[in-house]
Amino acid sequence: PQSRYKTINPATGKVEKVFPETTDAEVTAALDKAHTAYGEWSTRPIAERAEFLRKAASHLRQRAEEYAQLMTREMGKLIDQARAETALAADILEYYSKNGEKFLQPKPVPEAPGTTILTQPIGVIMAVEPWNFPYYQLARVAGPQLVSGNVVIFKHASAVPACALAFARLFEHADTPEGVYTNLFCTPKQVNMLIDDYRVRGVTLTGSEKAGAAVAERAGRNLKKVVLELGGSDPFVVLPDADLENAAKQAVIGRMITTGQTCVCSKRFIVIGKERGQVFLDGMVKYMSRLQPGDPQDEKTSLGPLVAEDALTGLLSQIEQAKSHGARVVLGGKRVDRPGWYLEPTIITDITPENPLYYEETFGPIASFYVVDTEQEAIDLANATKFGLGGSVFGADVKHAHEVASKIYTGMVCVNCLPYTGPETPFGGVANSGYGRELGEMGMGEFVNHKTVRNA
Ligand code: NDP
Repeated sequence: PQSRYKTINPATGKVEKVFPETTDAEVTAALDKAHTAYGEWSTRPIAERAEFLRKAASHLRQRAEEYAQLMTREMGKLIDQARAETALAADILEYYSKNGEKFLQPKPVPEAPGTTILTQPIGVIMAVEPWNFPYYQLARVAGPQLVSGNVVIFKHASAVPACALAFARLFEHADTPEGVYTNLFCTPKQVNMLIDDYRVRGVTLTGSEKAGAAVAERAGRNLKKVVLELGGSDPFVVLPDADLENAAKQAVIGRMITTGQTCVCSKRFIVIGKERGQVFLDGMVKYMSRLQPGDPQDEKTSLGPLVAEDALTGLLSQIEQAKSHGARVVLGGKRVDRPGWYLEPTIITDITPENPLYYEETFGPIASFYVVDTEQEAIDLANATKFGLGGSVFGADVKHAHEVASKIYTGMVCVNCLPYTGPETPFGGVANSGYGRELGEMGMGEFVNHKTVRNA
């Protein structure tokens, strides 16, 4: 039988393993089990729940290299970045294991004597996750949700089934009760079945606007809360006093994380002043043209493959469309002549507001470059997108750079650095980048009952 869940090595294009999809009966049985598990899990002391996470993280640390290699084989992330992500996933589980109890403490309301806010779990949470950060995405849901007393059913992306199973195994090794962490290889139809069931009390999704809208619509119909983390078209603003060499170097690092397939990474580069723009562009061309395609498991490789063939063809058609609307490709723009799904590092200039690329997200190694005359124009251009996830501002006068940062409409702006995610920092966007936050104390507050209790 056909299954959407396959391991296909993006560096070779070869199908390595097919995983059967979950049947409807299995979905129902898994939900029964999750709901039953919730009854017991939600009443355990927080410290006990935290201990399961600590054990899962410890197992991940012990087998970090094996897990990183698996990720690289399955979705093509460069091995050093896969190692960093694996460590980050362990950090997140440990962070909630250590800090969860503190976040869940009853909070008195000083202005209303006798009033306390309790933080209590709400039930089974459905999580739909993408392939680009196969462990981090799971950790940032599992960490806060499991410590708070919820249980989670995961539908991971069909491109990363082996990573999905490997991460679920961490919780088996920790002897987590069955039904607390569930991985299902389900179809969108089965995701709907789950959302329709009363016992699922919240839905979180990271992915495209299309998938986010479909899931949020279904959840809305069923009166369920949703957290969405969707695309981004992050601006990278270079102010007149910024060090151009450093900015160009950072720009290329920022653009190339996970071969550019990151929701929160620099995508639109905006420099104030024509001459400085040319110097910055030359710098970007220099650093980007040094990237060498190869096997992502080889530490010397600096350009990895894209996740799938349709990701490559989609980007190639975005480039063609941009060109047909008058844009200029100053670097790259073509498929790399080798097996696998590699796109040359690409820089595009002369993008006018009439060009679809002006508004689109590019989910791959494509940098859009712009020169403007004034700071206000840079801010207006930074905000001329329907997305609002991250952004960067580079400038020597840090106080002034912060003032510019405050005018950029996104969920995160970094001054003289690249968008960042860590266990303690809330992560999420505004506008079409979605709503709600993951990570930090705020992430823990999304799927809980903030219950007011009052004395007479
Ligand atoms: P999708 O949004 O299609 O996939 C993300 C997750 O949603 C996957 O688990 C996918 O399952 C699932 N999904 C898709 N449609 C539905 C649906 N109707 N109901 C329930 N679940 C659904 O992303 P793609 O991988 O197709 O990437 C396309 C674009 O999405 C990118 O170009 C980028 O713009 C954006 N994206 C953003 C990410 C981010 O980090 N914010 C991550 C990934 C993508 P399945 O894999 O089985 O299709």
